[in-house]
Amino acid sequence: MRQITAKLLQWYDQNARSLPWRSDPTPYKVWVSEIMLQQTQVETVIPYFKRFMARFPDLPSLAQADESEVLQVWEGLGYYSRARNLHKAARIIIADHAGQIPADITALKGLPGIGAYTAGAIASIAFGAPEPALDANIRRVTIRLLDLHEQPGKETDSRLRKFVREVLPHSRAGDYNQALMDLGSAVCTPAGPLCQQCPLQSDCLAFQRGTQAELPLRKPRAKVPHKLVVAAVITQGRKVLLARRPADGMLGNLWEYPGASVPERTSNLPAALQELLKSRFGLSVVVDSQLGAYKHAYTHFTITLHAFSCRLPLAEQAVLPPDFTWVEIADLSAYPMGKVARLISRELG
Ligand code: SF4
Repeated sequence: MRQITAKLLQWYDQNARSLPWRSDPTPYKVWVSEIMLQQTQVETVIPYFKRFMARFPDLPSLAQADESEVLQVWEGLGYYSRARNLHKAARIIIADHAGQIPADITALKGLPGIGAYTAGAIASIAFGAPEPALDANIRRVTIRLLDLHEQPGKETDSRLRKFVREVLPHSRAGDYNQALMDLGSAVCTPAGPLCQQCPLQSDCLAFQRGTQAELPLRKPRAKVPHKLVVAAVITQGRKVLLARRPADGMLGNLWEYPGASVPERTSNLPAALQELLKSRFGLSVVVDSQLGAYKHAYTHFTITLHAFSCRLPLAEQAVLPPDFTWVEIADLSAYPMGKVARLISRELG
C-alpha cells in the first residue's frame, strides 16, 4: 500500500497538470473549481474558471452579486443549478460560517451543491484533510488496480472509498487525490490506457491479468429520448419578449423564448405553438414564419426546437404573464440563457 502511495506522489511531483486553481490554491478557488468540474472536462472549465475569478475574485464578491450576474458569467458551462447553489452557498458561508469555507466534511456536505465527492476534494485539497474523493477518474484507476468486475453502484463505491482511504497519506492527502485524478486523465484513460507509462503498473491487477480494457464494467446504455419543442420569438419594433424559467427546474431562472415541448408527431407546429401559448400563458399570437430549427443534446434527452417569428395583436400587448419581459434586442447579452436561446438571440442581433 505504502509503495503505491510513494510511486503515485513521485509521479505527481513530475507530471502534475498546471491548472489555474492549483496556483495559490485558496479554499475559495478549490471550491469554485470543484463545482465547475462536476460533470465537465478540465479543458472546458479553464476559461470559465478564469472568467469567474476575474468577476468574483473572492467569496464576499460572489455572495454580494445578484443571482442573474452569476448565471451570466456561468452561461455556456451548463448544469446551471451548480451556479445557483454556489451563489446560495456563498451567502450561507457568510451568514453561518463567519465568511470562512468550512474545513469539516460534514459542514461542507451541508452546503448546497456539495456531495460526498466534492466535500472530499475540497477538504483534502484546500485543507489537507485525509478524505477520499471518488470522481470518475479515481473510480476507474482503482477499479483497474483492484481488477474489480462489478457493476458500478453504491457497494462498489464504498469498497473503492475504503481502498483509497487505506492508501491515502495523511501528510499529502490533497496531492494524493489530485495525483489519482491526473493519472486517470492522462494515463489510465477510459479507452486505451497507457500502461507502459504508468507508475503503478507492477501493482495493477487488471494489467497483470490483461483485463484493463474491459474495466470498469458499464451499465447498458438506455436509449436517449428526443423531444420536439416549439418556441415563439415575439417581436415588437426592436424589442423581443423573453420568459424566465421557473427557479427550481432545469435551466432554472434562465431566460428563453416562450414555448414548450409538443407531441413528437405534431404536424402543424405553428398551430401547436399558438395553442400552447394560449393555454399556458394566456397569450394569443400571430405566427408569421419559421426562424429556424435547432438541435441540442442535454444529458438525458435531445431536443429539436423550432422557433417561429411571432407578433402579438394590439389587444394582447397590455398584460404580460408573470416572469415575461420585453427586452431590447441590443441588450439580450445581459440576460443569461441556455445554448439554444442564445443561438436564436445571436441571429436576431
Ligand atoms: Fe491503469 Fe494500466 Fe496503470 Fe493499471 S497499469 S492503473 S490499467 S494505466
